[in-house]
Amino acid sequence: MVQAYKNLIDGEMVSADATIEVVNPANEQVIATVPACGKDELDRAVAAARRAFKSWKKTPAEERQKVVMGIAAAIKDNAEELFRLLTSEQGKPHAQAQQEIYGAAGLAAAQGGLNLEEVINQDDDTRHSRTRRVPVGVVGGIVPWNFPVMMAIQKIVPALVSGCTIVLKPSPFTPLTTLRIAELIKDVVPAGTVNIITGEDSLGPLITEHPDIDKITFTGSTATGKKIMEGASKDLKRITLELGGNDASIVLPDADVKKVAEQLFWSSFTNAGQVCIAAKRIYIHEDIYDELSQAIADYAKNVKVGDGSEQGTAVGPIQNKKQFDRVVELIQDAKDNGYKFLVGGETDPSGSGYYVPITILDNPPEDARIVAEEQFGPIMPLMKFSTTEEAIERANNSDYGLAGAVWTSDPDKGVEVAEQLETGTVWVNEFMHLSPFAPFGGHKQSGFGAEYGIDGLREFTYPQVITVKKDAFA
Ligand code: NAD
Repeated sequence: MVQAYKNLIDGEMVSADATIEVVNPANEQVIATVPACGKDELDRAVAAARRAFKSWKKTPAEERQKVVMGIAAAIKDNAEELFRLLTSEQGKPHAQAQQEIYGAAGLAAAQGGLNLEEVINQDDDTRHSRTRRVPVGVVGGIVPWNFPVMMAIQKIVPALVSGCTIVLKPSPFTPLTTLRIAELIKDVVPAGTVNIITGEDSLGPLITEHPDIDKITFTGSTATGKKIMEGASKDLKRITLELGGNDASIVLPDADVKKVAEQLFWSSFTNAGQVCIAAKRIYIHEDIYDELSQAIADYAKNVKVGDGSEQGTAVGPIQNKKQFDRVVELIQDAKDNGYKFLVGGETDPSGSGYYVPITILDNPPEDARIVAEEQFGPIMPLMKFSTTEEAIERANNSDYGLAGAVWTSDPDKGVEVAEQLETGTVWVNEFMHLSPFAPFGGHKQSGFGAEYGIDGLREFTYPQVITVKKDAFA
């Protein structure tokens, strides 16, 4: 018998009539079931969130922050159980699952300390005017499968801190760790403030279009983001969208080949490449192209791909069959077009587990699918460039604008290039670093609005200006 997980609605762990099976991507075994919610369960969760909102919005900020600190502690205190569960449903190696769990606890603690200060607009003999931030109300949170816990926390925490309540839907592929956290925080959060319900993709539009939800915070693909924007437009819900990316790294000719090779590798292959801010196109200056591409290929040959629960595994399987098929198709397309593989290229869809070997392409053309599309798998195209201007132009030649990186021995030069990239985040000589205090959001079709920091928190609120006329009846 596989374990049947429950949902959190109005402070209670509850089941539903129908269920969804959750599969371990390392061996394709069903490991648990979760409720398959529909309109009825959603209505109950939204009603509970609406009831809870009445008192939660009036709860003093310090008390709300204490509750959030309780969430951070519950995750941290149960980290070992949670990271093992996360590996079993998501596939990522234990070390990376551990980072995600501790990262989520750390993010909750850091964001729990943020405050939205009031601003005085005018204070003189005639008028006192101030802007305060008021919570938007009930939030619908929708989360993907690549960082299920981190994404859930980065929606639940700012909602609570700002005075909103939330109904959160994990991805049907990776709901287990989030539901275990739901159980752990059931008595930490006031009933109805946090509701976590699971369902197929079809539950998503019901959330987006629910008349009693005031805001949607979504992380996932750009295609789904567009549908959400359309659905939310019906009653002008507020939206925050964190979407796809096709991030470019630019390696300038003065970069230290020996030092950057390993980092460039992990900027692409962390979480088997299933990271929105993974480097998905690497542009290397022609002077160092041969040496650096060989150094990356040599490093790759010693990295073990396998079951994330086994010791020594550094790259796990693809999370689900649909994504596995897409990645295999991209590799096949590269083969059909005769592109050169530096590493990998052989896939075996017949085995058990969604494994794709580390695959590195040698200078495919700019219009190759593997370059132009977000791959979201362990595939990295390396491309040669001659001038910095050319590299910047090629990096910016994308509808996406999530993040990017510049690698150089001269940080000033790095910043000069960084400022010309059309993305929400750019790193110089590192990758994937996000701060709980800095806004994270995409330009162009990578997003709408931002998460993290004060900017992220503000998105859960409306500004309200209160003006008092002092001499009205003088
Ligand atoms: P997805 O868009 O398929 O699904 C994300 C979530 O949306 C899931 O919970 C899904 O059930 C739900 N959903 C599906 N159809 C819906 C609809 N019509 N209306 C409402 N909800 C719906 O994305 P995915 O495949 O789970 O995740 C991979 C994508 O997410 C990649 O494109 C990746 O770049 C992106 N991503 C972005 C960020 C970021 O912060 N920018 C972070 C992680 C992942």
